[in-house]
Amino acid sequence: MSTDYEPVIGLEVHAQLLTETKLFCCCATAFGRAPNSNVCPVCLGLPGSLPVINEGAVRLAVRAALALGCRVQSRSLFARKNYFYPDLPKGYQISQYEEPLAVEGCLEFELEGAAHEVRIQRVHMEDDAGKNLHGLGGDSAVDLNRAGTPLVEIVTAPDLQSSAEAAAMMRALRDILLFIGANDGNLEEGSLRCDANISLRPRGSQTLGTRCELKNLNSFRFVQRAIDVEIVRQTAILDAGGQIDQETRAFDPNTGCTRTLRSKEDAHDYRYFPEPDLPPLVVSDAMVQQERGKLGELPAEVRRRWTSELGLSRQAALTLTQHPAYVRLFEETRRELDQPVKIANWLGTEVLRDARVHGTSAELPVSAGQLAELLRLVEAGTISGKQAKQVYSDIAGTARSPGQVVAELGMVRVSDSASLEPLCRSLVERHPSQAAALRAGKKNILGFFVGQVMKETKGSADPKLVSEILERLIMEQAS
Ligand code: ADP
Ligand code: MG
Ligand code: ZN
Repeated sequence: MSTDYEPVIGLEVHAQLLTETKLFCCCATAFGRAPNSNVCPVCLGLPGSLPVINEGAVRLAVRAALALGCRVQSRSLFARKNYFYPDLPKGYQISQYEEPLAVEGCLEFELEGAAHEVRIQRVHMEDDAGKNLHGLGGDSAVDLNRAGTPLVEIVTAPDLQSSAEAAAMMRALRDILLFIGANDGNLEEGSLRCDANISLRPRGSQTLGTRCELKNLNSFRFVQRAIDVEIVRQTAILDAGGQIDQETRAFDPNTGCTRTLRSKEDAHDYRYFPEPDLPPLVVSDAMVQQERGKLGELPAEVRRRWTSELGLSRQAALTLTQHPAYVRLFEETRRELDQPVKIANWLGTEVLRDARVHGTSAELPVSAGQLAELLRLVEAGTISGKQAKQVYSDIAGTARSPGQVVAELGMVRVSDSASLEPLCRSLVERHPSQAAALRAGKKNILGFFVGQVMKETKGSADPKLVSEILERLIMEQAS
């Protein structure tokens, strides 16, 4: 009989910090330049070159640590992590080992409406490696433009219990880093990367099992799938009476399998030692306070405020906090028009459908001013909700004002009985049997007549007024 196993999962997340220049030199971090054009003696690891820490990167790392509720250490140490790989010209990565930048945080996330929490063990700074490019006419080549890019590594405690929790946590982390401007959240482009450590233990047991580490999880979907696949693989081994070998494995999305990359190295394999070319990293209280001041409202806080104070649904709040640009558009519109639920409805249905986001930048189809004006025209009864959709599609992607479009289209909501009554009268005359049925008490026939009026006025009539007129006409005829 198979034992009931409980998965135990911890994530190590690498996030590229959004600085213009690299961590220890002045080379640009810009993506997509000609290979090996953003390099210098420092990031090429040439003898005699010396690293100088980028204060901007430290500030973003501090901000990320604070957003994760960590305690920032006033003094942390850089260390060399030695290994050989073609994309690592120095022969070592400058990382932090014994004294990381920050420790002991926690991250809250939601999964299917339930609140979860994962402890953050540490947040440390390190530089990125370059990239090996394979299959160039049968050759492999190395592009060192990325070498030396600043990263933060965020390490969670093994608190996660399912692949779904891991993916949800990753999403929450991405949102936070995006909101605070530390990282652009692009898993596909590799600026946010996730390694997942997975082990199993008999349900109820307190001891941790042997883990495997999964690399290359470059989408939220792959995080979830790869962990599921790995849980199945480990379960089969344990059920067959085998043992898990601690190793580093890769997930191949094409086959849906994980395979051994290497047997897991222990810390001593890296021969960590203190970086002799850099002094201890000192973070002042002043810097911590300044970065705390720049945090702004985090996505979870925005959602809480919107649902509890503004009456938005949980789903609407989730949708509209997927990107900081959406939050800004919502808040700016709300400053012009105090109708949060109506604004949220419009944003969630029409506006987000046409929004294009890439990293921290966003292209939104309308401005807060345009949206507020459009909703005001509906509120004032100048146009109907249906007409508003047409006006929206005319202004989307342009700088035109809704009022101008309404005037050009000659669109006004017909809400005076004098102009609607003749139309209603003629309809009743043209449909005598329906009129008779309505008179005889078949109330639902009223909808038929209202529908006809809306059709003939192209949606511009006020349906409530139309019902009143029709009812009156029918009663008149009865008497
Ligand atoms: P290393 O630095 O060698 O990768 P750490 O002890 O720092 O190892 O842990 C790295 C990650 O692995 C952390 O996210 C941690 O939560 C997770 N982890 C450690 N042990 C286990 C385990 N037995 N099962 C699942 N995850 C684990
Ligand atoms: Mg590790
Ligand atoms: Zn450089």
